[in-house]
Amino acid sequence: MGPHVHMNLTRQWALEEGFGEREAELVAVANLAFDSRYPARASFANITKHFAPTAWAWSARYLSIAVRGGDLMMLGYALHCAQDGVAHGRLGEKHLLTLAGLGRHPDFWDRAPRSVQRRIEAVTRHRLRRFVRDVR
Ligand SMILES: [Zn+2]
Repeated sequence: MGPHVHMNLTRQWALEEGFGEREAELVAVANLAFDSRYPARASFANITKHFAPTAWAWSARYLSIAVRGGDLMMLGYALHCAQDGVAHGRLGEKHLLTLAGLGRHPDFWDRAPRSVQRRIEAVTRHRLRRFVRDVR
């Protein structure tokens, strides 16, 4: 997904889930920075962080570290992997379809079906709530 989801919507949902302004900003900035910290093009290990099904395992791992240490950056990483896991489809088939000239580009929020938007919001809020519940 692009910056609208990783940054703007993530910050908005974090605020709505009870995070403070500063906390919500840190989570959103970490989420957005994940693509430049672990660019999918750089290595196979990085690819696994942005595509289902492996992105779900990374999200769980980052969330567990986030909860253990009250770490907002790790929470941002956990959200990124989950959002990409929904958006990119299984094994990144959405990206492959786009490369083949078929289907929509998976990284634009406006072009995503409402069902995909709803799932991205749901997996994000689920992780934000888990953090709020277990850390504070
Ligand atoms: Zn990504």
